[in-house]
Amino acid sequence: MSSLPILVLNSGSSSIKFSAYETGDGQRTRLFEGAVDGIGTDLGKFWIKDAAGKKLVDQTPPLPSRAVAFQLVADALHSGDFPAPAAIGHRTVCGGPNIRENQIITPALIDEIEGYADLAPLHTPIAVYIMREALRLFPGIPNFAVLDTYFHRTLPEVATHMPIPTEYVAMGVRRYGYHGISYESILHQLQPNVPEKLVVAHLGNGSSISAIRKGDCIDTSMGLTPTGGIISGSRTGDIDPGVLIFILKQIARSTPDAAAAAEKLETVVSKKSGLLGVSERSNDMRDLREAIQAGNAKARLAVDKFCWTIARWIGSYVAELNGLDMLVFTGGIGENDIAARAEICANLGALGIVLDPARNNVRGEATISAANSSVTVRVLPPLEDLIIVNHVLRLMGQ
Ligand code: ADP
Repeated sequence: MSSLPILVLNSGSSSIKFSAYETGDGQRTRLFEGAVDGIGTDLGKFWIKDAAGKKLVDQTPPLPSRAVAFQLVADALHSGDFPAPAAIGHRTVCGGPNIRENQIITPALIDEIEGYADLAPLHTPIAVYIMREALRLFPGIPNFAVLDTYFHRTLPEVATHMPIPTEYVAMGVRRYGYHGISYESILHQLQPNVPEKLVVAHLGNGSSISAIRKGDCIDTSMGLTPTGGIISGSRTGDIDPGVLIFILKQIARSTPDAAAAAEKLETVVSKKSGLLGVSERSNDMRDLREAIQAGNAKARLAVDKFCWTIARWIGSYVAELNGLDMLVFTGGIGENDIAARAEICANLGALGIVLDPARNNVRGEATISAANSSVTVRVLPPLEDLIIVNHVLRLMGQ
């Protein structure tokens, strides 16, 4: 089989990440990766590094718009310094109720995804912009949408159905679940020995947990939007709906326009809450750890709440799975925050989970449970780009 370079695009609210893999004969070799970060600022960052980590591009350009940001990426990739992609895979957070399968991107598909932007308001607007621009700037190259929701297609109706009037269910309000590409990558890494009863905690800027039985997702913490579930960097996670009504009523006093009030409420629950809201300091775990070292009580409460919520969620999934064989931590916090893993597992002692402090004292891939733990606890990286490449190749019939 000839070599097929596959480009992966992963856009966030203020960044576009990308990577390319050389594929063929079962090989998946990363050629380069890069990012353009700080969209909407005068001093952005634009870098590309090769597989050995050598910086090939390292710039600090003004990034007034996503158009400027993506043009930088396209120009660099067209410069002749990088192999032309045979196909492009787009990480797609949510396609809405009708788009449940990974598939080739057409203008009609982009319109459909855009119609449900409210389901992932931080991700979908830039993602559909990048899709349209990729079709325009890389003509003749097939583009594919790879969905974070795809992994959650096995959720039972009892988990997806929301306890609300049917008219809203008919509008597509249901549990979709997110971080699915990360979860797929964990199962990929556990092959061929995927445990029967598995819980994976993806803990990053956004955090979620999934219960997986025999490789099928049976429950997941994020719901209609990535704001649901466990507390995240700046998102509430699940919360008494009365709190939202209370806040909305306060906002409505100074913002009588209903749409504007809803926007403000969305900002409160998505951008000002979570670890940031509780700590009044940062959404970033590293900053909170520094603050805790300096005796900051609010940072301590934020992190305690984070670990407590996760332990509660894992406990409920153990009940659903009727036991637990393996717990996997992944994501920036899951891979690197040694203390968070210890704090979460300390709350789960009743389940027979015992960490080995020495084994846990690592960043990155490891088995961290003690020999007498009744549950194996592992740390694995989220290899999302690799999974996107695999889906693209499958959709191309390779
Ligand atoms: P995203 O969800 O945007 O992909 P990541 O998975 O990269 O985010 O996770 C980002 C989170 O990981 C941040 O809260 C960051 O502070 C945390 N993190 C990264 N490195 C460390 C570390 N060494 N110790 C504690 N937390 C870390």
